[in-house]
Formats: sequence, C-alpha cells, structure tokens
Amino acid sequence: MRPVVAISRCLLGEKVRYDGSDKAVPDLINAISTYLSIVPVCPEVEAGLSVPRPPVELVQNQNGIISVLGKKERLLDVTPQLNRFADQFCALHPTLSGAILQNRSPSCGNGDAPLFSANGERLRERDGFFAATLRRCYPAIPITGVEQLASNAAFEEFMAEVNRYHDQ
Ligand code: SF4
Repeated sequence: MRPVVAISRCLLGEKVRYDGSDKAVPDLINAISTYLSIVPVCPEVEAGLSVPRPPVELVQNQNGIISVLGKKERLLDVTPQLNRFADQFCALHPTLSGAILQNRSPSCGNGDAPLFSANGERLRERDGFFAATLRRCYPAIPITGVEQLASNAAFEEFMAEVNRYHDQ
C-alpha cells in the first residue's frame, strides 16, 4: 500500500476558499500522486461552512483560549464545528503518513496562521486549527505548508520523511 497524505482541497484546484477561489498547484500534485495516495481535505467546507463564506481568523481571548471567529463578525464562532470535523477526520484516517496544507490559513496554516487578540492586535503566528489537531492526533507524521515544498530538495526530503514514517 502506498503512503497516504492529506492535502488541502484548494491546492488540488477545488474552489473551496472563502471567496470561491482555489490555490491549485498542479505540477506538485502530479508529482505527488505518482508516489502517494491523496486524501483531499477542506476542514472548513467539510465542517459545514459554505462557499463563499465570511472569512475567519484565529482569536485569543483574555484567558488564552483560542477560537476561530469571523474577521468582521466577531459573533460568528465556528470553533465547535471545526473541532468536531477535525476529530472525525483523525478517527477516519488512522494510517495517515503526512499532510500538505495551505499556508497562513486559520484552519490549514502550518505554524504561520496569524493569531489576533480580541481587539484585533496581531499577536504571533501559530498552527491553524486543523493543523494543530493533526499534530495532536499524529505527533510524528511530517506536516508541511505547500510553500515549504518549493525546491526540489525540500520536496524530496518531505517524500523521504513520509516514506520513513510509513515504513516504520
Ligand atoms: S486553506 Fe484549508 S480551509 Fe482554507 S480553503 Fe484551503 S483547504 Fe479549505
């Protein structure tokens, strides 16, 4: 069996972003699909959000709790449904060997999703909500943002890590 990797659906060319666009990277996907099995995932749409939808962002409250709230409509809180979907995803894919995610997304960002305070101050960067759940469910699998695979060397290193994890 080939190793299985989760890939953000917008990278596969699906028009699932908040504004109805995609982030297709066909050359990368063609190269990957030669060696790996792909599980497409859009945590926001699969959690039940629409396309298009109001943009959301990571917000930390005064107690340090992080939620996913509407960028303009702070009363919009999609945290519970994103949580539910992420837990279901982990339960459904116990053999996952890696993930390639869209950079800077509040759901998929790989250490580079901006985190804001309740009054809109930019605090720092961290994993998106879904990426953070993947790390909890699969502590040892390689997880990368698509932009980190821009060079041949980085791509080959990622593929090697996925294969090493799969062959353990
Ligand atoms: S970045 Fe993630 S949540 Fe956003 S559209 Fe792409 S797959 Fe969906």
